[in-house]
Amino acid sequence: MRRILVAGNWKMNGSKTSIGHLLGGIVSGLAQVSDVDVLVCPPFPYLAQVQGLLVGTNVALGAQNASEHPPGAFTGEVAVEMLTDFGCEYVIVGHSERRALYGETDAQVAHKFETVQSAGLTPILCLGETLEERESGVTETVVARQLDAVLERVGVKAIADAVVAYEPVWAIGTGRTASPDQAQAVHAFIRARVAGHDTQVAQALRILYGGSVKGGNAQELFGKQDIDGGLIGGASLQADDFLAICHAAH
Ligand code: PEP
Repeated sequence: MRRILVAGNWKMNGSKTSIGHLLGGIVSGLAQVSDVDVLVCPPFPYLAQVQGLLVGTNVALGAQNASEHPPGAFTGEVAVEMLTDFGCEYVIVGHSERRALYGETDAQVAHKFETVQSAGLTPILCLGETLEERESGVTETVVARQLDAVLERVGVKAIADAVVAYEPVWAIGTGRTASPDQAQAVHAFIRARVAGHDTQVAQALRILYGGSVKGGNAQELFGKQDIDGGLIGGASLQADDFLAICHAAH
């Protein structure tokens, strides 16, 4: 039985004040929820603040990105050792905004995945096609290519200790959600592809859906056989919206 995981990706949003309010609301609203795993991924400068606010709560801490390199001369980058130093447990790897805006390649994402995992952190590997790719009928080809780059680098056993997030690029921040059936079809495809290497790993793997998840559509999405929770962008910035999604999962 896979536990539902709801992860908030705050992207480049927040301030010390707003984060204090947001987390206060999330933590108190989740006090009674024990059957859903929840984590938040703040921007790097707020990791220390959020780490402090999460002590003794049932909310975990994640980061939005990490360098594939060890500490050293990489101006502007953040090493995985720094993330563990601040109590991070998860790291988002290969988010479509990193791929599209910062040119992260499949090979680089696979390298980041390996580095994150070597530090004892859990990678959340994002996969997903653009609108053009979906309309050209190559969704599965794209998702398979992104997944295979990681499988080839780290092997299927490493996937057992990771999370995958299917995030169709056309649904991120657009208000346009993949229908539960559209999402389920790609999730089933991802699970089957992992099963081609190892059926037990595939059965245990949590595959999140991301792309304009809201309180109103979360329950139907999470009710699908191969959807094990969500990676939430916009709706993770308001406590009530995020809690509605967590409660839908619960
Ligand atoms: C995301 O950025 O991972 C995401 C899913 O964003 P949103 O929920 O805003 O579509």
